Amino acid sequence: MRILITGASGFIGSHLAEKLADEHEIIGIDNLITGKKENIRELNIEFIEQDITKPFDIKADVIFNMASPASPVFYQKYPLETLETNSIGMKNVLENARKHSSIVLQASTSEVYGDPKVHPQPETYWGNVNSIGPRSCYDEGKRFAESLCMNYAEKHGVEVKLARIFNTYGSRMRWDDGRVVPNFIYQSLTGKPLTIYGGGLQTRSFCYISDMVDGLIKIALKGKNKEVYNIGTPEEYTIRELAKKIIEYSGSDSDVVFEGLPEDDPTRRKPDISKIRKELNWEPKVSFEEGMKKTINWFRERLNL
Ligand code: UDP
Repeated sequence: MRILITGASGFIGSHLAEKLADEHEIIGIDNLITGKKENIRELNIEFIEQDITKPFDIKADVIFNMASPASPVFYQKYPLETLETNSIGMKNVLENARKHSSIVLQASTSEVYGDPKVHPQPETYWGNVNSIGPRSCYDEGKRFAESLCMNYAEKHGVEVKLARIFNTYGSRMRWDDGRVVPNFIYQSLTGKPLTIYGGGLQTRSFCYISDMVDGLIKIALKGKNKEVYNIGTPEEYTIRELAKKIIEYSGSDSDVVFEGLPEDDPTRRKPDISKIRKELNWEPKVSFEEGMKKTINWFRERLNL
């Protein structure tokens, strides 16, 4: 198959490209605002530097639309780019799919649930999002993108699958992207105090990248048209527990410090994954300990620490 990956030099995009390149012809596009070319340097794929907010014409059987800043620090640094990528960019992806009859896998997010009032979050939950808050460029951008996908499917017959991605971690995350896992690992490995925002009792569930990639491929190829699937690990950790584990696994003697909680930071988050389990037989396989240790080792080698 010919597969187009947008955001191919980002964290998840580059891992998808690597996995799919063994069996398929891959075309990767990226505007490189947050992705890094070095992530795909050794991969056997065709790369085009292209911003999806500019129209493009690329033949593909399947499109994985992974393009968008995704860490709170980066999407708040590039709020207008994030909104445009998820609206104009999403439209260009869907127009390209319409022209070439491609299947579209849209990388959506658990952020569509905002600060959820239902726990764990099933796909049927509509969410609790502040449309004018600092996270809205991402949350509302991704909600708009979901709506555009559903309406292109309805009006123009484009085949779309929506994957709501929960917190994911692994190699090729940027050490400076501001998300909690790279921050804590970098701080542990450099002997700096781990910065816990708020009281650290907020929770997240962390999925290892290889499980995420397997699940996304299943959703794209075997998921139903116009369906949405949560994807992530239903094991919930407080941020304090996460800090403690990362200090332990990295053999660090770092301390922790408490800093202010960012505005609208979700209090609890954990996916209900019954749907993907039942329909696609997908289940995360890599344990928290194994995934975190692999990630710590990757950062240690990469940063020469
Ligand atoms: N967080 C933290 N210290 C950090 C970075 C993040 O305590 O150095 C917290 C953040 O406030 C949030 C959680 O960790 O409650 C996850 O943050 P992240 O930016 O990784 O992603 P989010 O799930 O909020 O999109």
